[in-house]
Amino acid sequence: MRSLMWTLSLLYFLCCSSFSQTSPVSTNESTPQLDHFDASKVDPSVNPCTDFYQYACKRWIADNPLPPDEIFWGAFGKLQLWNEALVHQTVLDIASKPSAERTPVEQKVGDYWSACMNEKQRNAEALNTVRPTLQRIEEMSTKSQIAEIVAELHRVISGAWNPGDAETYAPMFGFGAQPDFHNTAQVIPQLDQGGMALPGREFYLNMDAKSAEIRKKYVAHVAKTLELGGETAAKAKADADAILKMETTMAKSAMDIVKRRDPKNLDHEMSLDDVRKLAPDFDWTRYLRLVNAPSSSKLIVTSPDFFRGTEQLIKSEPLDHWKAYLKWHLLARLSPQMSDDFVNENFEFYGKTIFGAKAILPLWRRCIQAEDRDIGQALGQAYVARAFPPESKERVKHMVKDIEAALSADIDSMDWMSPGTKRQAHIKLAAQIDKIGYPDHWRDYMALEITPDHHLANVERAAAFEFERQLRKIGKPLDRTEWGMTPSTVNAYEDAQTNTINFPAGILQPPFFDPTRDDSVNYAAAGAVIGHETIHGFDDQGRKFDENGNLHDWWTAADAQAYEKRGDCIADEYTEFVPEAGVKQNGRLTQGENTADNGGIHLALAALENDLKAKGESLEAKGEDGLSNLQRFFLAYADIWCSNLRPEMMRTLLLENPHPLDKYRVNNVVSNMPAFANAFGCHKGQPMVRENACRVW
Ligand SMILES: [Zn+2]
Repeated sequence: MRSLMWTLSLLYFLCCSSFSQTSPVSTNESTPQLDHFDASKVDPSVNPCTDFYQYACKRWIADNPLPPDEIFWGAFGKLQLWNEALVHQTVLDIASKPSAERTPVEQKVGDYWSACMNEKQRNAEALNTVRPTLQRIEEMSTKSQIAEIVAELHRVISGAWNPGDAETYAPMFGFGAQPDFHNTAQVIPQLDQGGMALPGREFYLNMDAKSAEIRKKYVAHVAKTLELGGETAAKAKADADAILKMETTMAKSAMDIVKRRDPKNLDHEMSLDDVRKLAPDFDWTRYLRLVNAPSSSKLIVTSPDFFRGTEQLIKSEPLDHWKAYLKWHLLARLSPQMSDDFVNENFEFYGKTIFGAKAILPLWRRCIQAEDRDIGQALGQAYVARAFPPESKERVKHMVKDIEAALSADIDSMDWMSPGTKRQAHIKLAAQIDKIGYPDHWRDYMALEITPDHHLANVERAAAFEFERQLRKIGKPLDRTEWGMTPSTVNAYEDAQTNTINFPAGILQPPFFDPTRDDSVNYAAAGAVIGHETIHGFDDQGRKFDENGNLHDWWTAADAQAYEKRGDCIADEYTEFVPEAGVKQNGRLTQGENTADNGGIHLALAALENDLKAKGESLEAKGEDGLSNLQRFFLAYADIWCSNLRPEMMRTLLLENPHPLDKYRVNNVVSNMPAFANAFGCHKGQPMVRENACRVW
């Protein structure tokens, strides 16, 4: 699943913890004003042809410093806060209703909220809730029992993770359901690498001073957490050293993040016997029985080397180290949902060291985010009713169709593609399903027990509910209508295996989709988002999937070669050292996103031009603000990327995330476009007119 922005899993440790000293803020105090496009906000002291990002964003950046509890702040962050405030108001209304007057869905929403906000109960009971599992780990007498404990941890922890993103996080390894790479009609089990609690393998393996410093703090954090869980200080310290060593071994056998982008590298189908041979010391039979996985003649093993490495670890590490590792993963995942001591310790390391936050989010936001993760489609119904009228859905549907028509024309115009490949591209585009706003059928949570008085128990049951829901897909036909994001999410995604593009109602709000602004602004913002996701189906990895989502090569060798040459241009263009973060942006890691940004805005512009023509207008026509439609289009595009970012967050993103930094999402994109140079009168030799402009779509 390829998204517009980094996804919440990266922010998990920040977003979903549930205790703090801060008292809840009322909605009115916390509701931010949404930004609306305003052409007068540019900085006239900057030449748009020298640095368009600074021209469009310098004043915004100065006027909108990062709030202490935020790690990035821009259009996305403001809208996220606005959405959460709206959902918060709804939840408060529900929670204040007498139980007898609530609908069954409202009952879950209200009870989850009450339990999450009950700090007194959580402080008193959290450790008691996890103690039986800690005890079971302590009582293990042989390494063959590791499978038993991992099965339990996967049930109460893994479900809370977005399956497509859980590549490092699930304890020991990841287990879930995935469409068969070669026959997406069939869903089969998937075994993925995992087992690490730092944000990615680079955090274990990079040798620079900053990485070493983070690892030192990590060991201290692991020790402190184990101590809070009941270990003596001396044992906790020794255990933490052993845990870092084990996770580093896992990192070494895990597949590199750039290699993982290529679905061909993940395409290893195996029988259960093959899996047993890969890691014979793990009791697969017992694990699969305990998680209640439907049987399947084959499994996808994304990185066999990782499981070979895990087998070596089972052999080499003493049982005591495995006990420490399993306890750590239990506590690490649940800390944000536990008592103040665990919450604050978790925030000190993940919130501050990894992401650079200065203060923890207020409790009400952490509870709304946890609830959105656990029963998001129950919350989403209320959000949609308040914030996404049918007219918005109709208008966006129309824009999506216009942008798809622009891609269809774009495919026809490509001089480097042969007619046969173009034909296949058209077939794929025509088969793409557009999903706008929210699901046609809401998820049924009736089988999930939520009580008003025990947050951690609710969280564990919700995780198990989700884990079981995922595993139940095995052996069943693929459901292309399912959503992987909740309705209030400020993001969007394309999914190659379902061949769908998905736009939650949460992003179809100002400044992305703004009924108070003209078409130039809406095509630049919402249109570029729609174009971005549409292009993902045809980016350097998306192009490897066919109209049914199968991994099937529909390109002639010559066309594929021509494509790759264009892709290399994009990858090289975005590879650059970022001094503020102290690391390099890797154009190979961000290639798919770069392709989607560059192609997406072309489609949005073409769709705008068609739309204006149909109304007898033009891109060159000037509006009341003295700007041409084309100038307003580029400014509105830049505006959605105006942002402030903590240096720690920047570093973590550059190392682990496939999206480029916001500045590059503007300057690299516009400097590749002759239409931009025309709009602002830029000429050859100026920084925003690239000598070797890249173009794929
Ligand atoms: Zn994307």
